[in-house]
Amino acid sequence: MAWFKRQKKAIEQAVPAEERHVRTEGMWTKCEACGQIIWKKDLETHWQVCPRCQHHFRLSAVKRLELLLDDGIWTEHDVGLVSTDPLEFVDSRPYGERLREAQRKLGMGDAILTAEGKLRGRPVICCSMEFNFIGGSMGAVVGEKVTRAIELSLAKRIPLIIVSCSGGARMMEGAVSLMQMAKVCAALARLDRARVPYISVLADPTTGGVTASYAMLGDLNIAEPGALIGFAGPRVIEQTIRQKLPEGFQRAEFLLQHGFLDAVVHRKELKGYVANALDFFLA
Ligand SMILES: [Zn+2]
Repeated sequence: MAWFKRQKKAIEQAVPAEERHVRTEGMWTKCEACGQIIWKKDLETHWQVCPRCQHHFRLSAVKRLELLLDDGIWTEHDVGLVSTDPLEFVDSRPYGERLREAQRKLGMGDAILTAEGKLRGRPVICCSMEFNFIGGSMGAVVGEKVTRAIELSLAKRIPLIIVSCSGGARMMEGAVSLMQMAKVCAALARLDRARVPYISVLADPTTGGVTASYAMLGDLNIAEPGALIGFAGPRVIEQTIRQKLPEGFQRAEFLLQHGFLDAVVHRKELKGYVANALDFFLA
């Protein structure tokens, strides 16, 4: 029965099945704000800003330093500082295990980099936080590195810039992480008395103990557009004050309107803005 039975052989596949698809996975991403499909290379050349709606994606700590420091060159300080897990804390997983995983994945000791470099030719100390390292949380190491950066800036009398991107204090280090707030603030007070400028840049998100300490203590507090900035989350506040919160609450633009920030600056203008501010401070 020739009708039902294939008499000729099936056409041979010139290309094996697994090679028949063009590999596009990982080359494209969708803008979480406007839904635009963006070529990842495009996003990279725009410093992770959506070319259509200007939504600011999160920038890694290293990329942030490349954005701010001349020629992407800097010297890193306190590279070897790592947490000792003082409480030997365990939640769903041991904290020590989380730490080692983050260190391996990101190739950094903790959630912040301290760099000494130049910004438009002017020497600066620049700290940059990494959100992917346990939510950019501040434990003993982040607190100590920030404090040492302040002390270095004070000793050399060169301006300090801290880019915050953090969920707040690191709860796995309990009170040890909360004590960092007082230590960092005391060091910043000394920097202030010595009249060395400190510029705080708040990226999305900056919350909890980081907002409640160094992120809001800059001589200038500058945020990126749309950044979530706050202390407690909106749900906790609503439940406490038993009121509905206004639209856009805890976003950079809302905070600027209400006097909590000095400026909201687009990422591509950030370096120029900081450079002008330092010119003004040091004139
Ligand atoms: Zn967009």
